[in-house]
Amino acid sequence: MSKIKILPEILSNKIAAGEVIERPASVVKELVENSLDAESTRIIVEIEKGGRSLIRISDNGTGMSHDDALLALERYATSKIYREPDLFSIHTLGFRGEALPSIASVSRFSLVTREDAADVGTEIIVDGGKIKKVSEIGAPPGTMVTVKQLFFNTPARRKFLKSIGTEMSHIADIVASTAVAQPAVRFKLIHNSKTLKNWSPTTNSFDRVIEVVGKDLAKALHPIEFNANGISISGWVCAPQVTRTTSRGVYVYVNQRFVRDRVIQHAVFQGYSQRLVKGQFPIAVVLISVPFDQVDVNVHPSKGEVRFTRQHQIHEAVKLAVAQTLEQIDHPQWRPRTWGPVASSQDSSEVSDSVVSYQRTEDRFQTKLSYNQYQGTDTQQSAKRDAKPAIRREQTPIWQKKRFSDLRVIGQFHDAYLVCEAHDGLILIDQHAAHERILFERLRGQSAQAKKAAQQLLVPETIDLGFRESGVLEKLIPDLKLLGLDIEHFGGNTFVVKSVPAPLAGRDVNPLIIEMVENLVAVGYSPGPQKALEQCCMMMACHGAIRANQRLSKEQINGLLEQLDSCDNPSHCPHGRPTWIRWDVKTLEKSFKRIV
Ligand code: ADP
Ligand code: MG
Repeated sequence: MSKIKILPEILSNKIAAGEVIERPASVVKELVENSLDAESTRIIVEIEKGGRSLIRISDNGTGMSHDDALLALERYATSKIYREPDLFSIHTLGFRGEALPSIASVSRFSLVTREDAADVGTEIIVDGGKIKKVSEIGAPPGTMVTVKQLFFNTPARRKFLKSIGTEMSHIADIVASTAVAQPAVRFKLIHNSKTLKNWSPTTNSFDRVIEVVGKDLAKALHPIEFNANGISISGWVCAPQVTRTTSRGVYVYVNQRFVRDRVIQHAVFQGYSQRLVKGQFPIAVVLISVPFDQVDVNVHPSKGEVRFTRQHQIHEAVKLAVAQTLEQIDHPQWRPRTWGPVASSQDSSEVSDSVVSYQRTEDRFQTKLSYNQYQGTDTQQSAKRDAKPAIRREQTPIWQKKRFSDLRVIGQFHDAYLVCEAHDGLILIDQHAAHERILFERLRGQSAQAKKAAQQLLVPETIDLGFRESGVLEKLIPDLKLLGLDIEHFGGNTFVVKSVPAPLAGRDVNPLIIEMVENLVAVGYSPGPQKALEQCCMMMACHGAIRANQRLSKEQINGLLEQLDSCDNPSHCPHGRPTWIRWDVKTLEKSFKRIV
């Protein structure tokens, strides 16, 4: 007798539910996606007790006929793909045909649906996967799915549900991330009869974004744009001064599908390279459009991951799109607030009072203008803006002057900070961070000179590494040599350092190399040779830079300021920390209550 049996349908649906439905938020995600696929323009999500007792999604979409509604509850029943090739060119959010039967198998479920042209709707009641009742019912056009007592018949799953607050925050995240890419759809989220979100439909996608991420971020968000080789990227990135402690502020969409894609997230972080310190995460909305046949969404049952046929190109495109916008923000369109003469009072009124503030230049203004054109802002407002660039153009030469070396150095504080006077404020410069930036840019601009300037070690240093570390270092040897760090493989896991870049002369090179290699081993994601080298430069800069607790001569301080002026990004150390902070006179006067 055969030992192998085909599973009963209810059981196979429950197994599928194990993959697709992890928690209440997964139900919300699947049902909202169905509503969107059904072309709804209004989706209401009602929740009770974090989704434990009730999840109800109502939409005004196409609805289903009586027969289709019954079919929809069968496993693998879908209206979205018909033939095998369709699977490789998916235009809809759903396609697997398993959400409804899966949800219905692990809850007390009901579906009420009506097509616009139909006189009457259909109601289907399902209990733990068994259809209990099918009837005609009066209903508005659209669909309403009610899910009560989720996981009532899979106690192990129900036990794993977290607190109401946690489950609710997952639900709110799903609604928010979906809403960002669907500005034309109204979303309403209700919990225990209280409306938490009510986002009106809009034609302006930026309006929806700021409704979701917070209106206070509106000014800090800057548009990104990239178009080449069939890849189009749009969205917004936040200035690096505003960060989060998790990656939840990074919203990535591929053909309007919200995805948690590590490759793209990594590309976004790389775009922010050196502007954020460890543990800081940016806020960004990245919308990627690629031809449907170049992205595989059938990678994971919950469709939260995708695979691209041109993964590397997409990664580079996202990185570039983000980096270009950020460069515009801090250089040259946005400069650190100048401490040269301020040209007009009209201008200073726009400067924020924050410690590290940024001043708008005319270029920034133009960026904003084109951004508003992109947003279709009304012409009256643009005309009023139009009036300002003239004033700003006069100021441009001031900002092109050297800046750090124009400061009057008051002295050194704690042997760690340079205290300087600017025309309109007090500047503190972190001497280690500033020197780190200078050395990093010097090392990164590797050249024949770097090799020439290398210091031969009188007694070559020997280093013993672990097996994996040796493999990593061996690959880096030719590139490190170009930087002036000459290492030879001695055999086995032993290496010999023969010369070091000039800034590292006299420093203990052993810990540096171990740190460098261990860091590259730990990254886990192969960052590519360029990135690996950049990281090495960062560490060399850190090891070679003057330290805090180091007294500097006047000449050394002046030299530092001059070199800082020639840096591309003088405002951040390579790890993303600020190199300087500023108190403007007004802030100080306010603090001393000289002015109110
Ligand atoms: P999939 O979305 O993968 O096709 P589902 O099990 O989620 O599978 O849904 C099955 C089918 O039921 C869908 O293909 C669609 O035709 C229909 N359907 C589900 N929800 C709705 C809805 N809200 N409005 C209209 N049709 C729906
Ligand atoms: Mg679906």
